[in-house]
Amino acid sequence: MGRKRRLKLLNTQRNSIAADRTQRIKIEMSNFWEMRARQRLGDGPEMSKDDKFLKMAYESQGDHEAGILQEDGMELTATSCQKNPGHVCYFEASKFAKDNIPKPYNTNDIFACISELIFLTVKLIIKGTSGARPDNYDFANSRLTRCGSGSIYIPDPEKRTRDDNCPCKKCKNYQNRTTDFGYIWVTTAKHVIYNDEEAQRTKVWLNYDDVAKENVSKLHGHRLVVDNEEADRCILECVTHDLSLCGKINQARDRVKDFERQFSKEFGDSEAPPLATLISHPHGMPKRIGFGKDVKREFVKAENEDVEWTTYTYDAPTCTGSSGALVWLLGHERVGFKDNKITTHTHAKKEGLRNKSGRGLDYVKKC
Ligand SMILES: [Zn+2]
Ligand SMILES: [Zn+2]
Repeated sequence: MGRKRRLKLLNTQRNSIAADRTQRIKIEMSNFWEMRARQRLGDGPEMSKDDKFLKMAYESQGDHEAGILQEDGMELTATSCQKNPGHVCYFEASKFAKDNIPKPYNTNDIFACISELIFLTVKLIIKGTSGARPDNYDFANSRLTRCGSGSIYIPDPEKRTRDDNCPCKKCKNYQNRTTDFGYIWVTTAKHVIYNDEEAQRTKVWLNYDDVAKENVSKLHGHRLVVDNEEADRCILECVTHDLSLCGKINQARDRVKDFERQFSKEFGDSEAPPLATLISHPHGMPKRIGFGKDVKREFVKAENEDVEWTTYTYDAPTCTGSSGALVWLLGHERVGFKDNKITTHTHAKKEGLRNKSGRGLDYVKKC
């Protein structure tokens, strides 16, 4: 055999060994994550130190539904999910169609409104946990990366005193900071983002609708505008230089508001809304949409004559990673829209076979 041919053969063998090795590592890694998922559910081989931390972190949040992300950016696969095995209860955002909405609510207007809500839903990735979380609070002392869901809007300029210059990290390093910037606010659960320190460790992914991530834009958290432990709610502030994005968000939110007004007349703001819609990032996956028809409002306390604190329970599906997602009820008009009040209900936890929101403000029912 000539020297050239020997070298060629050797290279082919090397490439084949490398390909085998890559394939083996891939299989080992996927087995590893499956094993971790099983261990978390108390059904796997003996745990390593890392896995014990993972289990402790999950146990610390009880029934709350934040997720813990692994190296691949997801928490579990749909097949290893124990709460909603196979995820057949969800619809994918990138393929969402009018007929996915339960009858008789699969109208053009409801589809248009839900499409705007899909655009306004974001994934949250929080690297680490603040030492200020009390010892008995979710994820206290955990350094793992969490994920949750949220919904975005542009604050009313009258409710937000504007900084003269952009306060983002990039601009802070320059003498002349840009004055062309806009604020984007994200509503989510307090157990997902606890304080300003965690706000600054948060990344927000918009338009994460499919695994290709083609249209994803990312924002960095800046601070918490307001937070309320009892309500399990907070509002995260982000800053952007993309003013056209602010315009698009504002437009989508305004359309939702108009639809809510219209639907409240059509479907009545009754004690039992006919449909709950929940859009979130289960396990940190691309956006999923789920519906439920069994919704209950629970009175907590009065805020004033016209407004009261309530919580909702619902059968719309959620998984870990869904914490912080807006719970949207058909026929229900939300209190306030662009201020910093706790005006909406966000998903907080599972409760038996149903799911439960944090506290939010509702109009008092006059009927
Ligand atoms: Zn799941
Ligand atoms: Zn800036």
